[in-house]
Amino acid sequence: MQYILETNVYPREPEPLKELRAITASHPQAYFSTAPDAGQMLGILLKLVGVKKTKEFGVFTGYSLLLTALTIPNDGKIVAIDMNRESYDIGRPIIEKAKVEHKIDFIESEAVPALDKMLENPANEGSFDFAFVDADKNNYVNYHERVMKLVKVNGIVVYDNTLWLGTVVQPESSLNDYFKEGRERIIKFNKSLAADPRIDISIVPLGDGLTICRRLY
Ligand code: SAH
Ligand code: CA
Repeated sequence: MQYILETNVYPREPEPLKELRAITASHPQAYFSTAPDAGQMLGILLKLVGVKKTKEFGVFTGYSLLLTALTIPNDGKIVAIDMNRESYDIGRPIIEKAKVEHKIDFIESEAVPALDKMLENPANEGSFDFAFVDADKNNYVNYHERVMKLVKVNGIVVYDNTLWLGTVVQPESSLNDYFKEGRERIIKFNKSLAADPRIDISIVPLGDGLTICRRLY
């Protein structure tokens, strides 16, 4: 919401994030970037949880990644996965300039195989404090099962775009095929989370909607 952005978010947005937003603005998929108001909330969560080790799926030019890197402590670590390194390379000079690149381990890969590889090493199980999931929405269900093993009990998993531009409450007939499909998937995913006894959940309608999950056991 513009009001929230203007009164609370932009005045406090760190300079490197403003810069990243500016260089992303001319990208044809600039709308992929995490909404700054959602980002501000992520920042609070990261601090509250005291996150030291986190992972992110879906980096794009790196708004949420840079935000995370700026927020966690100097010895914190972020495993960042995206199958497209080109868009990450757009934001990388700003991440380097902000002197937080040492916290980031970027893996160019599809997310499911990368998760499976992480799970091959038992030391990774239950080792993450946090996860931000923002890659392809048709795989959210597949990510969830894997991420639940990697995040520790009490750890937080945040899924982005869980309101799918509000289409979750729009009549199907009013939408084109792209949104129809996405809507279907997100509705299914949201239902599966609501029925998952392993987590606490809260959907926050900032940006395109974020679902915060806390692993209970
Ligand atoms: N969090 C980012 C936005 C991510 S946009 C930000 O704040 O800017 C979604 C990203 O997911 C894209 O960069 C796309 O390349 C990536 N992606 C899509 N499908 C994927 C998959 N199956 N595995 C890994 N990454 C994927
Ligand atoms: Ca997103």
